[in-house]
Amino acid sequence: MVHLPSSKLPNVGTTIFTQMTQLANQHQAINLSQGFPDFLPDSGLLSSVDHFIKKGFNQYAPLGGMIPLKEAIATKIEKSHQTDYHPDSEITVTAGGTQAIFTAIATFIQKEDEVIIFEPAYDCYEPTVELFGGIVKRFEMKAPDYSIDWNVVKGLITEKTKMIILNNPNNPSGKVFKENDIQELIKIVKDTSILILSDEVYENITFDGREHLSICRYPELKERSLLIASFGKLFHVTGWKVGYCAAPKALTDEFRKVHQFNVFCVNTPVQLALAEYMKNEEHYIHLSQFFQEKRDFLRKGLSNTSFGILDCEGTYFQALTYDKISDKNDFEFATELTIRHKVASVPFSAFYKNRLNENVIRLCFAKKQETLEQALEFLAKV
Ligand code: GLN
Repeated sequence: MVHLPSSKLPNVGTTIFTQMTQLANQHQAINLSQGFPDFLPDSGLLSSVDHFIKKGFNQYAPLGGMIPLKEAIATKIEKSHQTDYHPDSEITVTAGGTQAIFTAIATFIQKEDEVIIFEPAYDCYEPTVELFGGIVKRFEMKAPDYSIDWNVVKGLITEKTKMIILNNPNNPSGKVFKENDIQELIKIVKDTSILILSDEVYENITFDGREHLSICRYPELKERSLLIASFGKLFHVTGWKVGYCAAPKALTDEFRKVHQFNVFCVNTPVQLALAEYMKNEEHYIHLSQFFQEKRDFLRKGLSNTSFGILDCEGTYFQALTYDKISDKNDFEFATELTIRHKVASVPFSAFYKNRLNENVIRLCFAKKQETLEQALEFLAKV
């Protein structure tokens, strides 16, 4: 019998998104847990993939990505944020946001490097840092407003701080950075060599006229940042697993050294279809409005329930409190809500290393009208 080596991630189980989706399926509950749309993407995009497959684009793409897609990404960034990334040397197409994040961390984090993250945090940051021997320092943002005390963040910085990971707009809290947050960040990284990994996969989903302040708008930050984005979120195709990393050439050169052995390259016909589709900016500039209607519908319906509704400034997630309903912890409550009331959610404690429980759950509203109506009917009975 072979003796198994010790686990590199002894404290990691299956991600909460998979757990809750499995529970939802097992109990035929409406799945508002894992973040993915339950409606079809635009048929024009689908037929474009078909077109490129039939035209014979079925072999490896160049390792940095197909040229038309890298150019389309550079154009989108330029139009949205008035800054240039060179398509060839500064943009790398990745197999989704998570791979880009993994590769960025793998590229730069060495043993004992410190990495600052903001919790509630998307669940891949910390294990990936640990996998490469890094040490995570965390700032806990808390309900109800999830604000950041930048003085406390400054106190987390040491000589060993190699990277700060940001997620703006934030999954799961829906919090969006304000100009003040960015200015504070600029101050604390000034005169340091700290890199920034900026996970902006919900960049095009901000509400009530809020602007998305991408890291790339600020030259002092751009020069040290890896900007990560995702077509899954932009065009409702999370299963296609295509995203990208935009970063200055010196950072991109290093990123690609790892990327080439990590995935080598990404699905060719899908890249070409995305490039074609992006030519028309109408295909993405109304995304905030599209999701704001869903958010407002959900919030209006929830106002007739016993749940408390927290702010939602961006992303397609709504945070809820349930103090009037139960004193169970959020994990038990989310489990019970799935099994008894047939609505699956994600407990916020899953986004904190220390499992901070503030009795908050997350609902995904990237769903068809009927799905949201049905979920609201069930939630009203809780
Ligand atoms: N980003 C999605 C979410 O937050 C899911 C990602 C995943 O399932 N790994 O729900």
